[in-house]
Amino acid sequence: MKLNIPVHKNEEYPAKVVDLTYKGNGVVKIDDFPVFVPNALPGEEITVRITKVASHFAWGRVMAWQKKSPDRVDVKDKKYIQTGIAPLGHLKYEAQLKFKQHQIAELLAKAHLDEIEVLPTMGMDKPYHYRNKAQVPVKAVRGQLETGFYKRGSHTLVPIEDFYIQDPVIDKTIVVVRDLLRKYHVTPYDERTGKGVIRTVMVRRGYYSHEVMVVLVTNTKRLPMEKQIVDGIVTGVPEVKSIVQNINDKKTNRLLGDKNKTLWGTDEIHDQLLGIDFAISPLSFYQINPQQTERLYQTAIDNAGLDGSQTVIDAYCGIGTISLAVAKHAKQVYGVEIVPAAIDDAKHNARRNGIKNAKFVVGKAEEQFAKWQEDGLKPDVVIVDPPRKGLAESLIEATGKMAPQKVIYVSCNPATLVRDIQRFAEQGYHVTKPIQPVDQFPQTTHVESVTVLERTEE
Ligand code: SAH
Repeated sequence: MKLNIPVHKNEEYPAKVVDLTYKGNGVVKIDDFPVFVPNALPGEEITVRITKVASHFAWGRVMAWQKKSPDRVDVKDKKYIQTGIAPLGHLKYEAQLKFKQHQIAELLAKAHLDEIEVLPTMGMDKPYHYRNKAQVPVKAVRGQLETGFYKRGSHTLVPIEDFYIQDPVIDKTIVVVRDLLRKYHVTPYDERTGKGVIRTVMVRRGYYSHEVMVVLVTNTKRLPMEKQIVDGIVTGVPEVKSIVQNINDKKTNRLLGDKNKTLWGTDEIHDQLLGIDFAISPLSFYQINPQQTERLYQTAIDNAGLDGSQTVIDAYCGIGTISLAVAKHAKQVYGVEIVPAAIDDAKHNARRNGIKNAKFVVGKAEEQFAKWQEDGLKPDVVIVDPPRKGLAESLIEATGKMAPQKVIYVSCNPATLVRDIQRFAEQGYHVTKPIQPVDQFPQTTHVESVTVLERTEE
């Protein structure tokens, strides 16, 4: 039976916004048929024009507001919404924090887990200029070399100088580099022809160390006018410590290639997280918002209740941020991570910080858990920080068999968190404290949180 679709493309309807999806789109219902509308907030009354119709929902655009939300921020620069740099930038920060808290609470309620409390989201005092890393595409726009960001879902470059959520020193560095590339007529890479030199500019800056790294990603082995460009960066960016050329000559969407050539200064920069010194090279993974990462991971570590006598597993350990911070409060830490380069970094960072009680293994966490369980490892605490898809069921089962007293779940996706909480219940683990959301990515829809699960059945 064909569903009766009450809306038609290019027609306009008066509508009231009833909800905000986890992706930050407003929801209006026209004769019960849901229409997703970007840049529309709950409580607003709008005229919506239908832009696309699918079988069970449609997309629309706001043509006019009859009533605006008191939570709306009038974003002066539309670029931030167009490019997806700040998809929630039109919502007051207080409301963003509530939105993130409620998302977890609603998913729990749907799963009949209303008894689990969710605390207010820990936010930032200044919820912008927080990113310590930028990867900016370089393109010719009307014959001029530009740096900026792609329009959402496209490869159309929108030139931008103030990126709003990046460290302002990084923004300034990008402008210095852009002007040098223009001055010395370095050609931007063209995706269609595969010709041109410069593809991407990446800049990283240590939050505590203030050290700056500039990475020029080229399509060619040689960077023309290399000496002039390097001299110009050194003069124009007083904090620069490292200038690297990264060669990416493949027709690919990947931003960085595998080959790095240090043009000036050191091969890596440094920064601290939770008192541990980390080395950061061009390809290293490193947390993007160091201030909030410290709060997120400190919350996780505080909840682990360590006194120096425990054995801890840190699953999905990345470069070992949590493992190395936990090591000084534990007897022994085991980290597992799928990316070999991240484990190399973790080991390198352990050595540099004189940490001897952290052991790192490359592998799939679910497979390594099965091995550890067979080997008779008995952790007291298991910390997990998985990607969006959450935990494999076999990992939860292996955890049940290893029987740690506590599981600390650092989540970046409330939907898989709630699913996994239910699966942990089957292994005798229950949530014993309110869930603490921590805002890692202000102005965006990302929701991160810490959940404490304890073994409550024999
Ligand atoms: N706490 C880490 C970051 C965790 S992000 C840090 O601060 O460095 C999630 C990590 O899980 C990523 O590093 C990703 O590479 C890794 N990962 C993804 N799937 C995995 C799997 N099946 N087994 C182990 N690690 C995995």
